[in-house]
Amino acid sequence: MTMIKCISPVDGSVYAERQALPLEAAKGVVARARQAQKGWAKRPLEERVQLVLKGVARLNEMVDEVVPELAWQMGRPVRYGGEFKGFNERSNYVAAIAADSLKPIVIEESDRFERRIEREPHGVVFVIAPWNYPYMTAINTVAPALMAGNTVIIKHASQTILVGERMVRAFVEAGVPEEVFQNVFLDHETTAALIAAKSFDFVNFTGSVEGGRSIERAAAGTFTPLGLELGGKDPGYVMEDADLDAAVDTLMDGATYNSGQCCCGIERIYVHESLYDAFVEKSVAWVSNYRLGNPLDPETTLGPMASRRFAASVREQIADAVARGAKALVDPKLFPQDDGGAYLAPQVLVDVDHSMAFMREETFGPAVGIMKVKDDTQALALMNDCQYGLTVSLWTKDAERAARLGRDLETGTVFMNRADYLDPALCWTGVKETGRGGSLSVIGFHNLTRPKSYHLRKALA
Ligand code: NAP
Repeated sequence: MTMIKCISPVDGSVYAERQALPLEAAKGVVARARQAQKGWAKRPLEERVQLVLKGVARLNEMVDEVVPELAWQMGRPVRYGGEFKGFNERSNYVAAIAADSLKPIVIEESDRFERRIEREPHGVVFVIAPWNYPYMTAINTVAPALMAGNTVIIKHASQTILVGERMVRAFVEAGVPEEVFQNVFLDHETTAALIAAKSFDFVNFTGSVEGGRSIERAAAGTFTPLGLELGGKDPGYVMEDADLDAAVDTLMDGATYNSGQCCCGIERIYVHESLYDAFVEKSVAWVSNYRLGNPLDPETTLGPMASRRFAASVREQIADAVARGAKALVDPKLFPQDDGGAYLAPQVLVDVDHSMAFMREETFGPAVGIMKVKDDTQALALMNDCQYGLTVSLWTKDAERAARLGRDLETGTVFMNRADYLDPALCWTGVKETGRGGSLSVIGFHNLTRPKSYHLRKALA
């Protein structure tokens, strides 16, 4: 029997452990989900929507348990109150657009013909979720999938092993039938075996590029549709007409919030030469204000990384960049709580270039590199010089210039004067190794359903 363990970044203790399901038992879970699906889909859409919203409301009632539990599992400081803001915003938004997004596309309704495209649920949807925003990343698929009439099975990351269990508990207590939304604890082998056995009608994987590759390999030949939301190395570009203070504030927050463990976190910043010195100086001052420490302490603004392992890889990238000529500007003496383990001080690097892994590979930590650029052409080439493409954050007063650059940017989202935010009305999607598909918005609903065409000829004459 494999035990799945959450080693807390707070103190290195085993915070929670659960036994992984053996393959046969996991197949039983899938069979129950499949059996329940048609009945669930036959319920009126509004009833499904309301049940999901009740589940969301029930989870909100658990706030006093959820917030410290998150801190123990992945290090998010309790002062931020969990992920309820985004979790609720996304749930409410998809609820509001569900009817419109799922309504038939009517081509003709005449005496002679009825021609339309209806949307049908896929069937059983499998959600594989990451630890970095464990509730928000999961709800992006769970809420619209259930509303659209699918049944859902969730497998959460080992680091946040209690999150799937808690979400399901909240939803079931709120009235969602047990077979309609189920949590499973699975190791990688069983996960892959289930996918390879065509257990699911849609799989949404959010996580690393390597994990995404494994899922794609497991699904090969099964024709199971996949949504893959993978890594990023999102850039910011500060143009000469930018509001400097706003740019520093948003980009440094985007680089370091959640200890930099955000898929759309800012990992590299290109600044026009006229603003470069001021931007660097203000950025270093900005991050130096963090208070690193135990996430259960309400005074802590920067918690540990989710695991020693992740912090070690950030330290390695920084050391490699410094060995190649980069300069680290944040004084380590300001962060005596940096223990060489999971507690990692924020860092700003200059004199960086794209020969360094730090500027090319995902860092996923509270560290960012800043480079000077002379114009849009140079900035564009650098922003696109990357295997990922999730978001880009442009800082200018000129929306036309941002849109023009946007057309040449290899990315899923173009932001102007904002960053690190997921708008549920827009499609969350990426290019290159950041993945395939798209969640939220009307497109998210379309991806969680399949089209069925009705071509009804009423009059033969
Ligand atoms: P991860 O290690 O790939 O894990 C993600 C999930 O997949 C976990 O549930 C994990 O389970 C499972 N998993 C990983 N490899 C697997 C395999 N070979 N077979 C079966 N299941 C597998 O990613 P993470 O470290 O949790 O999350 C951080 C990554 O997610 C970053 O790269 C980040 O950029 C990305 N991310 C992307 C988005 C987006 O919207 N594009 C959003 C959030 C995060 P275990 O934990 O049990 O290994």
